[in-house]
Amino acid sequence: MPVKFFIFLLFLITPCFCENFSEFNRYQHQLSKDYVTKKITHFLQYSEEIENYYEVTEDSLVLYASAEDKARGNVEYRLNFGAEVPKPSQFNRPLSQAKIAIDPGHFGGQFARLEERYVEMEHEGKTLYFDEGSLAFLTALHLKKKLEEKGAIVLLTRKAIGEGAYSENFFDWLKNHPEYWEKGVPLSTIFLRYYNRLDLHARAEIINNFNPDLTLLIHYNAVDSELPDSNQTKETTRNFNLVFIPGAFCQGELVNPEDRYHFLRLICTQDLEKSYEMAQELVSLFTTHLQVPPLKTAKKEVSGFGNSLVSADGVFCRNLCLTRLIKGPLCYGETLIQNNLEEALELSQNKAMVEGTPCPERVIDVAEAYFEATVSLFH
Ligand SMILES: [Zn+2]
Repeated sequence: MPVKFFIFLLFLITPCFCENFSEFNRYQHQLSKDYVTKKITHFLQYSEEIENYYEVTEDSLVLYASAEDKARGNVEYRLNFGAEVPKPSQFNRPLSQAKIAIDPGHFGGQFARLEERYVEMEHEGKTLYFDEGSLAFLTALHLKKKLEEKGAIVLLTRKAIGEGAYSENFFDWLKNHPEYWEKGVPLSTIFLRYYNRLDLHARAEIINNFNPDLTLLIHYNAVDSELPDSNQTKETTRNFNLVFIPGAFCQGELVNPEDRYHFLRLICTQDLEKSYEMAQELVSLFTTHLQVPPLKTAKKEVSGFGNSLVSADGVFCRNLCLTRLIKGPLCYGETLIQNNLEEALELSQNKAMVEGTPCPERVIDVAEAYFEATVSLFH
């Protein structure tokens, strides 16, 4: 077999994780032990189990591919400590020269029921209906316009309501993958379990190829929405905003080399510090623009999610697929509780307009908060 062809074949069968730990060689003998240790404790470690994959010694941070490798002293990567404690760094360019990626969460439109991201509530004889994917997309459109007016280069991960980022539409993909058809398994389960993962990875890849200065992931929240009748959404009086940033690695989340790559990336780079700085600004603007308070606890029964570390009021480290896979500073916003009755009344009425499409006024308020937070960070 010609060598070139063999290399080509090798390229085809290699899994898509192409990152290399040697990328971090430039951080050798720089970061202090204290800096690395504090970063792990405050932001990165949720579960003690991940200590099976790393060790902090007197002079280095050592990564291992497994608990057995750690026991045998079989080192995967060693980062030697230095004396440096990096100062919190600013976004060192003006917004007019910045690249901003925006990921409007979910799909919305025709996929809203399939992806189980919609609100349907009866109120005074009327049905209030809207979906998160559409709200997120319209928010992203308005935000994109505002940022472009300031000269920023903006990337949206998806092009329309009812579309994701994965190259193949769900139904085409389903036709080509009969191995996922299981008797009695609803389509939404197949969508959420398999297709959604592919779509999330596609979003991360699109963003990383764009190499942005900042990524904003736009979501609208809901709590306690489970009802026996799955077509209806339960009302709540609760309402809050929050922002996720990377971190909080849980049990089993350093098993793959790709996970350990990102763990090390978050230790070495300033991605986490910049995300944290932006998130604090964003939460404070959500509070003033929306007149809704930040969530202050990570207790599952209150927040609706587990496995996160509280960093500040409304700012939580959480190791979601996209908070881990996207390189660079990022904020994953979860604004408003959609099944709060007052919000549902607002979100189901299109009183404003974005790029020729009618939308709720709240969408403009949310987009303005993201915009102002972004403007305040670039100098
Ligand atoms: Zn969401």
